[in-house]
Amino acid sequence: TKHFPVRRRGRAALTGPRRAVQAVDDVTLTLQRGRVTALVGESGSGKSTVARLLAGLYPRTGGDIKLHGETVNIKHGKAFRAYARRVQMIFQDPFASLNPVHTVRYHLTRALKIHGRAGDDLEKSLHDLLSRVQMTPPERYIDKFPHELSGGQRQRVAIARALGADPEALLADEPVSMLDVSIRLGVLNLLRDLKERLHLAILYITHDIASARYFADETMVMYAGRMVEGGDSETITQNPAHPYTRLLIDSAPDPDRLVGGAAELDPGEVPAERGAGEPPSLIDPPSGCRFHPRCPVAMERCKTDLPPRFEVDDAPGHWAACWLYDGAAR
Ligand code: SF4
Ligand code: MG
Repeated sequence: TKHFPVRRRGRAALTGPRRAVQAVDDVTLTLQRGRVTALVGESGSGKSTVARLLAGLYPRTGGDIKLHGETVNIKHGKAFRAYARRVQMIFQDPFASLNPVHTVRYHLTRALKIHGRAGDDLEKSLHDLLSRVQMTPPERYIDKFPHELSGGQRQRVAIARALGADPEALLADEPVSMLDVSIRLGVLNLLRDLKERLHLAILYITHDIASARYFADETMVMYAGRMVEGGDSETITQNPAHPYTRLLIDSAPDPDRLVGGAAELDPGEVPAERGAGEPPSLIDPPSGCRFHPRCPVAMERCKTDLPPRFEVDDAPGHWAACWLYDGAAR
């Protein structure tokens, strides 16, 4: 859970009730090595905040992070550094995440040194990292500056830098949405290949549910800071249970398109926002089910009662936080 306090000025700061943006509320997810888990939602749904919480970049308002069943004490410097090394983040904009005045060599050397992995033969370690991300021959790229590389190559360098830590998990926040459509698939395929060869757990954050179907083993859907549906990607995209997931799929330009189909969308444009209504304010989110003001099949109880996760019995592990699946009521 992550709530950001809202700062106010003047009298209201002293007298009014404390307010907070309830950006992430009671989100639970498990990453597994060798699997890609997609976290899908429109902008402002809290999905990037989840990644930052997992990376330890924000303090949590509540909840725990566990690694191999052990609670991680992210306030304890040494324990946090050990954890942070296992869990590496990849950001949306590879140009912003690389320092323009430094070469590929510098970025990768620094990552290896920070994580104590520079070894006796640094040159070989650097070449190995570049080969891992299919930048071959490595000599062609190693002394280049970020501006001398394409967007896709820059993202590959960012991935290589993350691999420099020898992580168990990658947290990839919209890793291809700023790249040209023609190269998105290549970068996703690279991540999938790395998942298999290095047995990585990958959290894939995206607003594009069609790409989740293509790329992720498991898909979780977020709406207004809460998780609303989860299950294997095929089930979620072919047989969505939650009314919000249906809206997300129906309002995508072409439900069967793969990654390339997002061609007509500007970066950051979110298909779901073409659906009815707008996402709610998270300062004062709707009571009950947060989706109820937009939900075409909302019932009376939805306005007051928060739906827990209910099993959807069409596939193992499929669940929806929606009163339609309340077994007791059926
Ligand atoms: Fe719609 Fe109610 Fe289900 Fe929420 S709980 S998605 S309002 S039917
Ligand atoms: Mg985001």
